Amino acid sequence: TSQVTTVREATPILPDVKNIIAIASGKGGVGKSTTASNLAVALAESGAKVGLIDADISGPSIPTMFNVEGEQPSVKKVGDKNVILPIEQYGVKLISIGFLTPADSAVVWRGPMASSALRQFISDVEWGELDYLLIDLPPGTSDIHLTMVQTVPVTGAVIVTTPQKVALADATKGLTMFKQPQINVPVLGVIENMAYFTPEELPDNKYYLFGKEGGKKLAEKYQVEFLGEIPIVQSIRESGDTGYPAVLKNGITQKAYKELAESVAR
Ligand code: ADP
Repeated sequence: TSQVTTVREATPILPDVKNIIAIASGKGGVGKSTTASNLAVALAESGAKVGLIDADISGPSIPTMFNVEGEQPSVKKVGDKNVILPIEQYGVKLISIGFLTPADSAVVWRGPMASSALRQFISDVEWGELDYLLIDLPPGTSDIHLTMVQTVPVTGAVIVTTPQKVALADATKGLTMFKQPQINVPVLGVIENMAYFTPEELPDNKYYLFGKEGGKKLAEKYQVEFLGEIPIVQSIRESGDTGYPAVLKNGITQKAYKELAESVAR
């Protein structure tokens, strides 16, 4: 008897997206979203087509960092499906969990709700052709991380940490989570944020407020790449608050973010 085998090809998710990069951290407040937004803009400035998903339910700050707070993405009908159009700012296509919740309101996201929001951001948003889709994850390890790897083929994860001991301990957990068999995402490397403080007018004076080279040592320990460091600079914080990413302003900070983007893109 002849056997007929039907090979059913799964519909590829985001076939026109070349690289999906998760931006993760162990602890909150280490500058994950700041790094994600500056990286996204730096990649866009280099000529790449870039999208950014803000999946950080603990505090969706991307709308503020891109000065699109309160904006509502529009929805169009394609066949019988509703498609969400991302908001575009500084050359980056954006979607945020913050667009779904009114500003200033405390919305408690249960794990399954957050996971379904992420799934929607991936499958119902018109991303089109992209070179990079960055996903700004919540800090730590959560359902969202699992949902992400179950929904899309993640190219790799970038871990953001400060050099401080408590941040490094949590970053280690994040790093090892990506290596676990059920997650199994390659770690592209570690970014050390707030590596030292430097007054912008005195760039050669370095003060290691949170300790020295902790991120670098973490990368060495786990044999992943050290992607680079960003100092504590007042204008980085101000840029985040005013919604105009630091990488758009000429200067040493711009150079640092551009170099970081190059090492992530490599
Ligand atoms: P996370 O996403 O890890 O919670 P954020 O990106 O929201 O952290 O950053 C936390 C705070 O630190 C924000 O106020 C941000 O502007 C500030 N910040 C982040 N990175 C830097 C930096 N390199 N220099 C100065 N301030 C920074």
